[in-house]
Amino acid sequence: MRARKRIGLVAHDGRKKDLTEWVKFNEGTLSHHDLWATGTTGAMLQAECPSLDISRLKSGPLGGDQQLGAMIAEERLDVLIFFSDPMSSQPHDVDVKALMRMSTVYNIVLAMTRATADFVINSPLFQSANYHRVIPDYAGYIRRNSSDSH
Ligand code: PGA
Repeated sequence: MRARKRIGLVAHDGRKKDLTEWVKFNEGTLSHHDLWATGTTGAMLQAECPSLDISRLKSGPLGGDQQLGAMIAEERLDVLIFFSDPMSSQPHDVDVKALMRMSTVYNIVLAMTRATADFVINSPLFQSANYHRVIPDYAGYIRRNSSDSH
């Protein structure tokens, strides 16, 4: 991983305040990285932290989560800070699950709680290039699919 990380930021409505506080607290550190956020989360963060340059995707329920999932699949995201709300159901629950699944498939750094996000951002690896993210080898799976089709 490069020292300059590519980071996705997402919070459900009930957790947006939490994420905003976390981003404000870590604004200095985050300013050294490339940031993306889903639409509404990004608008809130940008208003609270004008020094940051946050690229905004679509709102989560309108495809923003899937855009982040595509970035992960294309190996264009290193870290996802995703504050989901455990106390409310989401209209785009399938997208949320897909985003978590893509994070696992590609072994990216995924923080879903504020405590985990604190540990991640305070890890020496966060600012360093000395980490090789192992992407599981899916060659066997791909071969199995192609031989099945003949
Ligand atoms: P939002 O989307 O930032 O547009 O609110 C977040 C989400 O619910 O995935």
